[in-house]
Amino acid sequence: MSRVTTTYRVENYATALCVFNFIAHRRRFISVSAFSMKMRFLQLLTILSFLLLIVKPISAKFYTNISSVPPLQFLNASRSAWETFGKLAGCHVGEKVDGLSKLKHYFRRFGYISTAVDNFTDDFDDVLQSAISTYQKNFNIKVTGKLDASTLRQIVKPRCGNPDMIDGTSEMNAGKKFRTTERYSFFPGKPRWPNRKRDLSYAFVPQNNLTDEVKRVFARAFTRWAEVTPLNFTRSESLVDADIVIGFFTGEHGDGEPFDGAMGTLAHASSPPTGMFHLDGDEDWLISETKISRRILPVTSVVDLESVAVHEIGHLLGLGHSSVEDAIMYPAISGGDRKVELARDDIEGIQVLYGGNPNGDGGLQTSRQTSGGAESGVDWIRRWRGLVFSLSSIATCIFLICF
Ligand SMILES: [Zn+2]
Ligand SMILES: [Zn+2]
Repeated sequence: MSRVTTTYRVENYATALCVFNFIAHRRRFISVSAFSMKMRFLQLLTILSFLLLIVKPISAKFYTNISSVPPLQFLNASRSAWETFGKLAGCHVGEKVDGLSKLKHYFRRFGYISTAVDNFTDDFDDVLQSAISTYQKNFNIKVTGKLDASTLRQIVKPRCGNPDMIDGTSEMNAGKKFRTTERYSFFPGKPRWPNRKRDLSYAFVPQNNLTDEVKRVFARAFTRWAEVTPLNFTRSESLVDADIVIGFFTGEHGDGEPFDGAMGTLAHASSPPTGMFHLDGDEDWLISETKISRRILPVTSVVDLESVAVHEIGHLLGLGHSSVEDAIMYPAISGGDRKVELARDDIEGIQVLYGGNPNGDGGLQTSRQTSGGAESGVDWIRRWRGLVFSLSSIATCIFLICF
């Protein structure tokens, strides 16, 4: 067997693993044990084999710095998105306007309309109004239930392909029962990498032919999470053995979550312990801005790779989306923006799952883990804060009754 043939088979196996992993992720509302997942993998492997012939990772386009981006990229940014949704400005309940069915598909994709609903019409109905209201709440926009300018501006921003809501529930703003400063969220069931897994490996799909410069971007992104957790990340050359597999794909790529060309959705990633990380190969990616932690340029269609990588790694470790705009786990990022520093909200969220870095001095070293699993210092502090508040309330009542 030639070396080329061997490589191809290994890559196909890994691709199948990605596909299976993502399907498992999308259906992981029901908790599935690692053993049964392996058994299901064997059962599904045959069915998925045909996908091996159509799933083709590609080579994405990379820019090494912002000055190398052609001026045309700035002009074209977000134009297609505005062409789709911009004309819907001002629509309200009772109207029928071309394009509203597309908008309903958008909201269904990100969890604001049930996946059971199909055959969308162009009517502005109660379902759409409810979806818009929930969306506005999640993105800190004044809740009007109408397609006002600020809502549309948010909708057309490039964003993560992971949904904000699952099964009609959201742990972003819309799901918070009480006022709280914490906005981080988790996947249903709060999945995380098990205690025995503190050293995680990641590998790149070889067919992308990524340069070392691109790979270093991902290494930096992993380091940002390692600094505030007990987790370590190392690069592996073996796709089969790696915990996390990273690949650039375009359009339909076998997991039922097709990419949509330039802008729109940029990437998606699975919850633990699946380890699937896909990026849209149709984006123009900016790769080399190592010393800049924050940048906001005039809108451009070039997307900062490290910003997206840090966000998706948050998903791979168990975080959902946050309503805090400064947080890495906020779902949207404008072309030309760079946001790579973990915010307090991100650190508090990840330390609920894993605790702090025992060797680090950064982040919020308030966490501890218990034998019971995921409880951390953040949970502990919150509980004591609640207890102190309750006791002081009782004392106040007693004082008022007695005196
Ligand atoms: Zn996301
Ligand atoms: Zn995918």
